[in-house]
Amino acid sequence: MQRDDKVYKCLNFVQDFIYPPVCVLCGQRGQRPYNLCRSCLSELPRNESCCRHCGIPLPTAGLECGPCSRRPPPYVRAVIPFRYAPPMDHLLQRLKFNHRLELAPLLGGLMAEAVQEVAGTLPELLLPVPLSPARIGERGYNQALELARIVSSRLATPLDWQHCQRVRHTVAQTSLKRDERQSNLRGAFAVRGELPSHVAIIDDVVTTGATVSEFAKTLRQAGVREVEVWACARAGRG
Ligand SMILES: [Zn+2]
Ligand SMILES: [Zn+2]
Repeated sequence: MQRDDKVYKCLNFVQDFIYPPVCVLCGQRGQRPYNLCRSCLSELPRNESCCRHCGIPLPTAGLECGPCSRRPPPYVRAVIPFRYAPPMDHLLQRLKFNHRLELAPLLGGLMAEAVQEVAGTLPELLLPVPLSPARIGERGYNQALELARIVSSRLATPLDWQHCQRVRHTVAQTSLKRDERQSNLRGAFAVRGELPSHVAIIDDVVTTGATVSEFAKTLRQAGVREVEVWACARAGRG
């Protein structure tokens, strides 16, 4: 064991003694590195059987969903470790709408673990899905960027939030029917400057996939060869 590791372990021990981590779901003692207990962690809705391309939950693992087999999405793969179901949906809503930014290390950390579990070369850059300036003004922060900061530091992969922008303030996707969602987003993103050939889009929740698909399409048009999508949770088809 390195000397630095010993010092780190010792500091953690002291910190646990003075400020023991508390599980954000049940209030019992949490388990480092997260403020979640072992039992609540094991009960999170894992997205184990899902489309190998877009990550949508499926009854059987390793297959491709109908839409992906008819027309592959503009990204190579999606790494989405959880389903958008209780209690993960509550955690993500608290992060997104209730300023509970202390949940980002937990949720971003779980995303980074999921990426480490799947084989493959890490991308050269992480790109959180940009929010419009109006939405940032309303909310005060971009939850995708907060998650991306954690994933970036856990995987030692750089992050960029300045070269991609949301240039059109779109109507909230949830208020639209499925076929209206893609047209609502057309031309919503813009890229400035040069990007590397392999990047990962970071988002909190993928619902229909319309937002990440439009962003991936914009990145491909800007010359990115390989786009991945990393999100915390995936909704099923509603
Ligand atoms: Zn718990
Ligand atoms: Zn699919």
